[in-house]
Amino acid sequence: MSVFIRFKKRAGELSQPRAIFTVLFAVALVALLIFGVSARREKEVVSESFHLGTYINLRAYGRDKKFLETELNGAKSEMSRLEGLFSANIADSDISRAGASSGEWVEISAETASLAARSLEIANMTGGTFDPTIGAIVKLWGIGTSSARVPSREETAQALAAAGWEKVSLCEEDGKYFIKLAHGQMLDMGAIAKGRVADIVRAKLADDGVTCALLNLGGNVVVIGSAPNGGPWKIGIQHPDEPRGEYIGFFAVTDSSVVTSGAYERYFEADGVRYCHIFDPSTGLPAVSDISSVTIADADSTFADALCTALYVMGCAKSLEFMRARPDIAAVVVSDKKVYITPAAKKTFTLTDKNFTLEEIPQ
Ligand code: ADP
Ligand code: MG
Repeated sequence: MSVFIRFKKRAGELSQPRAIFTVLFAVALVALLIFGVSARREKEVVSESFHLGTYINLRAYGRDKKFLETELNGAKSEMSRLEGLFSANIADSDISRAGASSGEWVEISAETASLAARSLEIANMTGGTFDPTIGAIVKLWGIGTSSARVPSREETAQALAAAGWEKVSLCEEDGKYFIKLAHGQMLDMGAIAKGRVADIVRAKLADDGVTCALLNLGGNVVVIGSAPNGGPWKIGIQHPDEPRGEYIGFFAVTDSSVVTSGAYERYFEADGVRYCHIFDPSTGLPAVSDISSVTIADADSTFADALCTALYVMGCAKSLEFMRARPDIAAVVVSDKKVYITPAAKKTFTLTDKNFTLEEIPQ
């Protein structure tokens, strides 16, 4: 005999099917919450290396650690391959082979041809204050190497004679690329190559699906997407006279690049004179500039890199004049205790060091 016990339903009590439904619903909700939280918990993958004469730090964020590790390893190999094409310090690079050619046509990779073409454009645009053909001058001084020295005037004059971006020819034939330099001319892409490598690596990572990353190629910073907290990346601008890591302000950017040139990091001292690693192509001597540092924030890191160097050579008055005609380029020029910014920089740059005064460059 089966005993049928009938429970009296108390107030607030659920019928059996409803109770089962509620339990299932609660379980699903908890599962969803756990999944949601772990899905949002981004992992950071870091890669450090030394390429193009500088320390490189890549950071990528996302859920799939394995994927990010593979991507950063790929980026490292890509940087090493590109360094093999663009470096003036690697004997069989495209850049070195072109310089060793005594005025003959030399076949180069598509990437080097593209970089050379872009560097000639920027040389033209900046009145030759950025000039990729001062390779012999850079080698002669050796600033940043153990053989740095002050050469004689004759040596400088001789190294400078071959320079001049107008003397470079480029051509393409049946999908192959060639470059011809003037006799004795040598290229140096030191002021643009890090920007170009950063652009190539950024494009590859973004194409592969990396949505959040910060690539720091010795101060050439490129960011993909927004910062891990969802806001813009904050990229500090180094204080020119304080130890590394002391900032005068910062750029807040997404999917962009921030590049600084200044004489405070790489220089050489002889007889109490400080010689910086940026040269004035009109004299063949280390640039003497009243700019402490110049920073460009632009989606095109190649352009930002070369332009910073050019503005540094121009000096404060000429660079402000140059930027006056280009209000859409975000630039920050630090000279003495003044920080000059373009209208475009006004939107993304914040000055934090109140010892400096901010001035907008008028249009
Ligand atoms: P960094 O490499 O420290 O970021 P820059 O981007 O200004 O600094 O590049 C400086 C390097 O570029 C030098 O080491 C040299 O190889 C090369 N260079 C120096 N002066 C010039 C110039 N006026 N135009 C083009 N390249 C230059
Ligand atoms: Mg540069």
